Amino acid sequence: MAKIAFIGLGNMGGPMAANLLKAGHEVVGFDLSAPALEVLAAAGGRIAGSAAEAVAGAEVAITMLPSGRHVREVLGGEGGVLRAAPAGTLVIDCSTIDVETARAVGAEAAGAGLELLDAPVSGGVGGAEAGTLTFMVGGSPAAFARAEPVLRAMGRTVVHTGAVGAGQAAKICNNMILGISMIGVCEAFVLAEKLGLDAGKLFEVSSTASGQCWSLTSYCPVPGPVPASPANRDYRPGFAAALMLKDLRLAQQAAAAAGATTPLGAEAAALYSLFVGAGHGMVDFSGIVRMLRGTA
Ligand code: NAD
Repeated sequence: MAKIAFIGLGNMGGPMAANLLKAGHEVVGFDLSAPALEVLAAAGGRIAGSAAEAVAGAEVAITMLPSGRHVREVLGGEGGVLRAAPAGTLVIDCSTIDVETARAVGAEAAGAGLELLDAPVSGGVGGAEAGTLTFMVGGSPAAFARAEPVLRAMGRTVVHTGAVGAGQAAKICNNMILGISMIGVCEAFVLAEKLGLDAGKLFEVSSTASGQCWSLTSYCPVPGPVPASPANRDYRPGFAAALMLKDLRLAQQAAAAAGATTPLGAEAAALYSLFVGAGHGMVDFSGIVRMLRGTA
């Protein structure tokens, strides 16, 4: 079992750290929030006074932070994790951040003689609690082999997607598909309503025809056809629209930097920006059907 430093014990990091403890790992945590630290202590973890203190003696250091800026702050600089970690510590950043920052902190880690993996997740808070997250992991094959047993204590699917940055690339490409496809499915249901076509009948046809996709069959944005979808509980998340917007913006940032043409990705970002701007950031992302229908 490994000695693991865990920095960023919020909605995702808190339950992920708890699953590491359940698997028998030793966890020393740090967060700026006192309540988050209390939750870790109650689950059997140790509390550190700073990120640098948390990584003293750690074999693995995991970060789960809001954005690239936070990751640079915690990992880089004088008092940062990369300076404080002992030689041989494996650094795993599970935050969803921009590809450029992931690559930059990877290079900084290499300069400090440490291996770093970017390992963003999908599966949300429910997946973090249940230990069923999907990890998309960028970094060297050797670092991936070291990380895999640790990640398996928090997730069900762990995929090595390439070099550092490839985890973030996989995450934003996947979520760009998801954002675009959700809007497409919502538009089809809104059109069906206007045409007097029953939603259940559209589902019956499209779920087995060429319009079939995850946004339709697993997460249908209208109540009825998929009982577990957030549409059946007044669009409580699930996956909040604000987080979808964050990922679509990261995809647009990456597309601009890489010179990729993604007009539908840009349009999806613009529509989610309108939806979140109208005060629906904490609504499930499938709730955008209400805006498209003209009722949000
Ligand atoms: P959160 O805001 O609940 O947690 C982030 C934690 O980081 C907070 O507890 C905050 O106090 C802490 N923090 C911030 N700066 C810090 C610092 N300098 N030192 C120590 N701690 C610091 O966010 P979350 O929902 O847990 O998301 C974390 C990451 O996971 C984000 O990048 C998010 O995009 C990604 N993600 C979230 C979900 C989700 O459903 N919530 C799903 C997939 C991925």
